[in-house]
Amino acid sequence: MTVDEKSKLLAQLGEVARACTACELSEHRAKVVFGSGAAGARIMFVGEAPGYNEDLQGEPFVGAAGRLLDDLLREIVGIGRDEVYIGNVLKCRPPENRDPTAHEIETCKPFLIRQIEIIEPEVIATLGNFATRTLTGRREGISKLRRKPIRVEDWYVFPMFHPAAALHRGDLYEDVRADFEALRQFLDSPPEIEAEPSQMELF
Ligand code: URA
Repeated sequence: MTVDEKSKLLAQLGEVARACTACELSEHRAKVVFGSGAAGARIMFVGEAPGYNEDLQGEPFVGAAGRLLDDLLREIVGIGRDEVYIGNVLKCRPPENRDPTAHEIETCKPFLIRQIEIIEPEVIATLGNFATRTLTGRREGISKLRRKPIRVEDWYVFPMFHPAAALHRGDLYEDVRADFEALRQFLDSPPEIEAEPSQMELF
């Protein structure tokens, strides 16, 4: 598929998401946050769900966590947000930024899976517990899974701390940075890091 074709399919899927009323989150949202970035990206970042700023703007990672993501991407990985694709497990903001429910994740997951099928990234960096669990089926926490790539279908999932972790707990800042360092190393030489096979069927 050409990048143009991918862009078109993503735009069409985004329209479907913007009209979605499949779960209760649609009743509270200001805007659907479908995802944004390069349709032909080699790397995709998947966060948890839109927060206050994302809900208002309809764009993922535009608040404080997003600024940190941009900074670490630029400084450590050496790429800008326009060179990657950024999305979330949920496309609508949970009230008060509460955790996503299992029902919301299952209801919204087809959008994420279709985004991945269209973009065909080599690496999906999952930010935090929810994205990692959703895309690998692994139940261990992110502290255990971080920086250990998992092979799923045709891509690698690379679990990382969510950048918001460093905002809530200053003592995790160096760990968040270390995850971006590890991601850069992995992107430079994927075969050198042994990947564990996934334990679930995604489709
Ligand atoms: N946190 C997320 O997980 N996603 C966003 O889009 C913003 C903050």
